[in-house]
Amino acid sequence: MAQLTNTRPTAELQALDAAHHMHPFTHGAELGQKGARIITSADGCWLTDSEGNRILDGMAGLWCVNIGYGRQELVDSATRQMSELPFYNTFFQTSHLPAIQLAERLAQLAPGDLDHVFFASSGSEANDTNIRLVRTYWEMKGEPQRRAIISRWNAYHGSSVGSGSLGGMKGMHAQGGLPIPDIHHIDQPNWWSEGGEMSEHDFGIARARQLEEKILELGPENVAAFIAEPVQGAGGVIVPPESYWPEVSRIVKEYGILLIADEVICGFGRTGNWFGSQTVGIEPDIMTVAKGLSSGYLPIGGSIVSSDVASVIGGGEFNHGYTYSGHPVAAAVALENLRLLDEEGIVTRVREETGPYLKEKFESLAEHPMVGEAKIVGMMGSIALTPDKARRAAFKADAGTVGYLCRERCFANNLVMRHVGDRMIISPPLVISKEEIDALIARAWKSLDEAM
Ligand code: PLP
Repeated sequence: MAQLTNTRPTAELQALDAAHHMHPFTHGAELGQKGARIITSADGCWLTDSEGNRILDGMAGLWCVNIGYGRQELVDSATRQMSELPFYNTFFQTSHLPAIQLAERLAQLAPGDLDHVFFASSGSEANDTNIRLVRTYWEMKGEPQRRAIISRWNAYHGSSVGSGSLGGMKGMHAQGGLPIPDIHHIDQPNWWSEGGEMSEHDFGIARARQLEEKILELGPENVAAFIAEPVQGAGGVIVPPESYWPEVSRIVKEYGILLIADEVICGFGRTGNWFGSQTVGIEPDIMTVAKGLSSGYLPIGGSIVSSDVASVIGGGEFNHGYTYSGHPVAAAVALENLRLLDEEGIVTRVREETGPYLKEKFESLAEHPMVGEAKIVGMMGSIALTPDKARRAAFKADAGTVGYLCRERCFANNLVMRHVGDRMIISPPLVISKEEIDALIARAWKSLDEAM
């Protein structure tokens, strides 16, 4: 079999890639024409591609490399664990040290009485777990009719059939006949694009009350849970109005519905606290975690559940699990990652120092003629591109390529920034320095100029 090395010419690698590799969320024909940009190594906040370009990673990979690239401590922890115990499962009354220690650490870090962890290898798997968890919870409590789960349009909760159904991406639903039964969607709290004449405050309340309306429509006795990202990420970093979450909290409490906070992006410092739930002031019954848990160095995710949910589920057998639930090497790396985030004060630095600095610089992008709003929480932010700021107008559908064009200009300027429709988003490694923030903003501004 051919051995791939970085010394092979880029064009050859691109041709092989297009010939044999099916990419997630990628247009195959376009890939064949343009060829993938091939990333060969990374350090801190910087990627290097096969042409030797140094690229500032404004997305932390896929919102996950919170600790930054190239941390030898994580490599060492993986190596140690691989030598000692590369694999054992956690099924059928067995366990191992990394899974036990990571569960203990997550129980310490998680807010409130969230103190049990069910491990998975990804956010998608963890959200699939959540569908079963909440329905089993209600069954075991003697209310088996409580099956409905409410989510939001444009939410992203993963790509498997279950988690893709929870998500509200219509393009994903269209492929493969989603959603699965008993999953319902309400609108997202995107004031800038959808708020019309309403104040931001009133709009936040109105969108939260859609949850109440949906509960009443379905019958409160039939509703199991509401799932949402504290700050919607892949849907375009939609920072909710301040009025939104307090009203949602009131509603879930009033109707006794479980609240699932999907912390796959917001968790582990992204919003300036350990969890996004703390930033927006909610008390979930379940949190989905992945990505930043291991800073993406190895795949691991999970559901952190309240003592109430754990004790109800623990009253019987939960017929669910993955071969790699609590994988020892991934768990050891996650533990080490959490140690570094903690001991190096990275979350505090985001909250108190680099986050506020990034906020000031990022919000200045709103002065660009093509930017309508620039919003950021901690280290996740978005700008809305518009042809007319005063009317908060969107580009016409066939100009939806403006975001794409901006992304391409960013890439040409050696900055990774993603686009979602007409929004450009960032989510850099949490270790980004002030100088790197300056470079990010300068490159973003230049790319916007070039895309106009
Ligand atoms: N939940 C959220 C909020 C996400 O952003 C993602 C991925 O981007 C997922 C779940 C799915 O995680 P994974 O891709 O690890 O399956």
